Amino acid sequence: KLYNLVQDLKGSIRVYCRLRPAFGTVKKPSCVDCIDETNMAVIIPGKGGKDTRKNFTFNRVFNAAATQSLVYVDTQPLIRSVLDGYNVCIFAYGQTGSGKTFTMTGPDVFTTETMGVNYRSLNDLFEIQQQRANMIAYEVCVQMLEIYNEMVRDLLSPDEIRLGTQDGINVPDAALIPVSKTEDVIRLMNLGHKNRAVGSTAMNQRSSRSHSCLTVHVSGKDLTSGSVVRGCMHLVDLAGSERADKTEATGDRLKEATFINKSLSALGDVIASLAQKSTHVPYRNSKLTLLLQDALGGQAKTLMFIHVSPDPDTVGETISTLKFAERVS
Ligand code: ADP
Ligand code: MG
Repeated sequence: KLYNLVQDLKGSIRVYCRLRPAFGTVKKPSCVDCIDETNMAVIIPGKGGKDTRKNFTFNRVFNAAATQSLVYVDTQPLIRSVLDGYNVCIFAYGQTGSGKTFTMTGPDVFTTETMGVNYRSLNDLFEIQQQRANMIAYEVCVQMLEIYNEMVRDLLSPDEIRLGTQDGINVPDAALIPVSKTEDVIRLMNLGHKNRAVGSTAMNQRSSRSHSCLTVHVSGKDLTSGSVVRGCMHLVDLAGSERADKTEATGDRLKEATFINKSLSALGDVIASLAQKSTHVPYRNSKLTLLLQDALGGQAKTLMFIHVSPDPDTVGETISTLKFAERVS
């Protein structure tokens, strides 16, 4: 049974949970079998004989066998709504190694089967654009930003590091590149990926310590009436949510961890206050929430993929991830 995200009256925030497959053998108790598809729940087994099981429920759960196309199916209606003039945010949340980049982009080398949400979304966006071409003239542009230690960097313009404006609601001087097919976006994403690695000795480490945001801006002019609709979609691969090891983190690592912690909790605060229909939404507490302000709340639609690792050694992180999810859903 599929949700229609656009027409769902329950609200515009959806939280899905995906379990990463286990690599090799995993000791018990662990989260290998923790997905309860009947109840859309994640069950964390208790240690020892005591029943300390914890249940977390979601709008949808995906077990380790879920394919990229299955994970994407419910996302499709959001793409249509971007072309109809809505703003959309899609997030990947979880500890490093839990599968965020796999969900958003895919494995390092991907095929049409294994490509992630980003490419599938863009394929659909361009396909719907084609279907409507005799009624609406669309223009599509992309931006790619990285937020590292509360600094915003334009990944599509390698010569300069551009910071957000004072009030940071958007980054008007970030490169906005027109695109007309998915291949254009793949080329730009590869460029952004290269730029991200510049000046960073350990690319993987850097990528797990920063948020990356691919933004697709769409404007559509109705060929009969001349009226224009604008929508945008932010595809956000968040920094790893793991807490810094208090005994090991010093200097730069501690600084990074502090910034990540601050911005992820600011994101949690914003989504939680939107979910509770609170009158004050604290957008101003982080660059991330300021940048995404126009696409969080109001008529905008939010989808958060929460990632869970089956690794028993990180079950503590898994529980904090699930608690984060519980707050925002
Ligand atoms: P993160 O971005 O959260 O740090 P990754 O997406 O890089 O995590 O995933 C860690 C590793 O696990 C990668 O090698 C990735 O290809 C693999 N992986 C993650 N999720 C899946 C999945 N659902 N199926 C197969 N491999 C996966
Ligand atoms: Mg990653």
